[in-house]
Amino acid sequence: KRRNPAQPEFVQAVEEVAEDIFDFIQDKEEYHRWQILRRIAEPDRVVSFRVCWEDDNHNIRVQRGWRVQNNNAIGPYKGGIRFHPSVTESVLKFLAFEQTFKNALTGLPMGGGKGGANFNPKGKSDAEIMRFCQSYMTELYRHIGANIDVPAGDIGVGAREIGYMFGQYKRITNSFEGVLTGKGLEYGGSLIRTEATGYGAVYFLENMLKTRGQELAGKRAVISGSGNVATHAAEKVVQLGGKVLTLSDSEGFVHDPDGIDQEKIDWVKAHKTKRRGRISQYADEFKSATFHAGKRPWGVECDVALPCATQNELLADDARALVKNGCIAVSEGANMPTDLEGAHVFRDAQILYAPGKAANAGGVAVSGLEMSQNSARISWKEAELQQLLRDIMDGIHGRCLTYGRRDGSDYVDYVRGANIAGFKKVADAMLAFGVV
Ligand code: NDP
Repeated sequence: KRRNPAQPEFVQAVEEVAEDIFDFIQDKEEYHRWQILRRIAEPDRVVSFRVCWEDDNHNIRVQRGWRVQNNNAIGPYKGGIRFHPSVTESVLKFLAFEQTFKNALTGLPMGGGKGGANFNPKGKSDAEIMRFCQSYMTELYRHIGANIDVPAGDIGVGAREIGYMFGQYKRITNSFEGVLTGKGLEYGGSLIRTEATGYGAVYFLENMLKTRGQELAGKRAVISGSGNVATHAAEKVVQLGGKVLTLSDSEGFVHDPDGIDQEKIDWVKAHKTKRRGRISQYADEFKSATFHAGKRPWGVECDVALPCATQNELLADDARALVKNGCIAVSEGANMPTDLEGAHVFRDAQILYAPGKAANAGGVAVSGLEMSQNSARISWKEAELQQLLRDIMDGIHGRCLTYGRRDGSDYVDYVRGANIAGFKKVADAMLAFGVV
């Protein structure tokens, strides 16, 4: 806190991890002596730069861009790029820190990083988006590379933005390499990358339910967000026989008691991506639904919850409402959607609760597979990738079980399991390197 006085999100993320790690390393002298946690919590570097672009009315606009390279002990830095007005250095440091543990948990050789800009893509024309992406890459290109740092998409950065950035990287460097993931299939992208985060979060949920002899079929799910992660999580819930009751965006949520089926999900996907519309319009399109302006969906009665929008969107009172209404499992598609107090509510109620760094790792895992395909210049088939995604999510779940039980208790604390398993892998690599 003293070191980072104006970085609440970063401090929150480090505190959450430290809580579990202190406990784990108590009797492990070498981790103390080599100051491993302190070193992981100090990014390798933070690059901050000006992103200057011209809007359609010929006004010159100035934004701030960043790339946070947190840790590359087990592989090149890897993590998404976020374009949103709420982006700050604190937000990106928290995301890069979390990414380090998440990437380690996948079992693939990827370090942790994150980048972005305080740019609001909403209401911008395609040409403005292109100019902004090109300008952002005009600085970023010197800090990244297929063996150095491999960014991907995140909030506000989808296939279109990745295309513009990849094109600019290739133009500046004259090098066609796997420097970004989430690319289009025509130029080195991987099948199932788009679906992977949302699908993976639901596979993780399924695995947790199995530990209590339950299944997803017949369960009611509340989901927040209506972007990439939320719509694909919804799709997988429906495929596995569950009923999706809600979706949301930054203006409010829609509640559809009839269930948001595949046809409705397809409408939302087209509405949010192609038409860049608002979720409120869902209630105009489908009369069974109601829109709740300025609210989040956690008060709706459900069996399972998937927060898939953004950080700190599920606070202690929301967590209490979910528990009170009978929710038995929460799987985080977003990064740190639940705050520390909310997480404690879930833990105290002993419901199944998977933190984002475990549950949403499917996306970066398939990004890791995209890197492998790019290095080998091959493309794997969809069925192979689907199986690999399943296996990776099973592996992460297994690692959480290994480290998530406190002595003498049957309850699996997935937060603890994910923190310790992720930490151990990175920490052991750092020990091997000595003081660097
Ligand atoms: P998208 O941009 O596709 O969608 C984001 C969704 O969240 C939109 O519905 C958006 O609403 C909503 N949202 C964004 N900011 C806020 C806010 N401040 N308050 C309320 N709602 C908000 O992003 P993704 O689906 O890709 O990402 C969602 C979450 O998942 C993020 O936390 C991201 O870091 C995480 N994640 C994503 C991965 C991926 O593969 N895409 C991988 C791992 C994690 P609106 O349209 O109004 O902006």
